[in-house]
Amino acid sequence: MEQSFFPCINELIGRFGTPLYLYDFSHITQQYHALKDEFAARKSLIAYALKANSNLSLVAHLARLGSGADCVSLGEVKRALLAGIAPYKIIFSGVGKQEYEIREALKIGILFLNVESEAELLCVEKVACELGICARISLRVNPDIDPKTHPYISTGLSENKFGVSIDEAKRLYLYAHKSEHLEPVAIHFHIGSQILSLEPLAQSVQKIAALLRSLLAIGLPLRFFDVGGGIGIPYKNEQTFALYDYAQMILANLSGLDVTIICEPGRFIVGNSGFLVCSVLYEKITQSKRFVIVDGAMNDLLRPTLYQAYHDVMVWRNGWLATDNGTACDVVGPICESGDWLAKDVVLPPLQSGDLIVFKSAGAYGMAMASNYNSRERAAEVAFDHTGKIWQIRERESLQNLWALELPFLQAQN
Ligand SMILES: *Cc1c(COP(=O)(O)O)cnc(C)c1O
Repeated sequence: MEQSFFPCINELIGRFGTPLYLYDFSHITQQYHALKDEFAARKSLIAYALKANSNLSLVAHLARLGSGADCVSLGEVKRALLAGIAPYKIIFSGVGKQEYEIREALKIGILFLNVESEAELLCVEKVACELGICARISLRVNPDIDPKTHPYISTGLSENKFGVSIDEAKRLYLYAHKSEHLEPVAIHFHIGSQILSLEPLAQSVQKIAALLRSLLAIGLPLRFFDVGGGIGIPYKNEQTFALYDYAQMILANLSGLDVTIICEPGRFIVGNSGFLVCSVLYEKITQSKRFVIVDGAMNDLLRPTLYQAYHDVMVWRNGWLATDNGTACDVVGPICESGDWLAKDVVLPPLQSGDLIVFKSAGAYGMAMASNYNSRERAAEVAFDHTGKIWQIRERESLQNLWALELPFLQAQN
């Protein structure tokens, strides 16, 4: 990948400025197919988790590959539709779906709603009854398994707010089966994100597949086995599990069953396809530390300060990758928070104003979590592919964008 934007990084920055998000759409294609192909022997649906990166052009790219969408708000459902994903490939998950969101999703006719509690199930039933339809649903089952990832992105323990227990799931499936307005079609779990070991996923698949078999045995018409997302990616040099082993483990647990496998990857598809390019503003050497101050900040990339996440960095100078020796430093942004750092204790060469620092693995939960904190305009987004084609997919925000919703009230007061 380094080579693919190597000749044009100066031109890119000249055209679009920094901080800038860059995405390698060819890498997205590769990731999508790598996973999809592992399930070639079965019916499967890759439902890309929009929350990792919901840029319309990026989702449209995945739609063209055949991807579905896993959405966690009505906003994401609408984005998926706008980007060209068919309703029958859209799943709606989340613990706090509101009644109007459920109504809209049912009217759109999405594949199914992933229900996370009894109260929500009753709400879906009520809305479906009002609409005079039968709502396709799945239950998110919490297998009570520790995914051994960062606590903020663990979701499959009984102490987490997500899903229902196995016992409750049985009861709710039976209830749904008897209801005139509910059609249980799927079973689902999602135990967390950035999972690096197959073990917790294998334990979950085993538990949920056993539950699926017992539900099928008593006549529930379940047709989809949804294994959630969470596939980990290397940020540094972490060992990840092989996709082949992941898929074979799932297939082995489903042997003899006629169900479609649904996989909801977010990070795996886009994480290592994205880069955040920042310009160096200043170097600042204090008694205890060397700081490199760049024009990107925690409002652009929150992961370092939110999860102590690591992003590998590259330095580009005058269009060349700089590989000279360096010293340890912290790369920090202009925001008025000590938590505003992007890299800690990385070894970088001496830097000058205008040098570029490129943060790798920034495609997932990067721009998606960006904010306007400190009245900073969110970055522009640009895509490229292996043919050298470059195209913009989001404009840099303007200050006018930032205060557009406040200005009318300011004027009304005067
Ligand atoms: C966040 C989420 C995903 C995607 O997680 P990744 O770790 O990005 O793959 C999938 N399914 C559900 C229900 C989610 O909440």
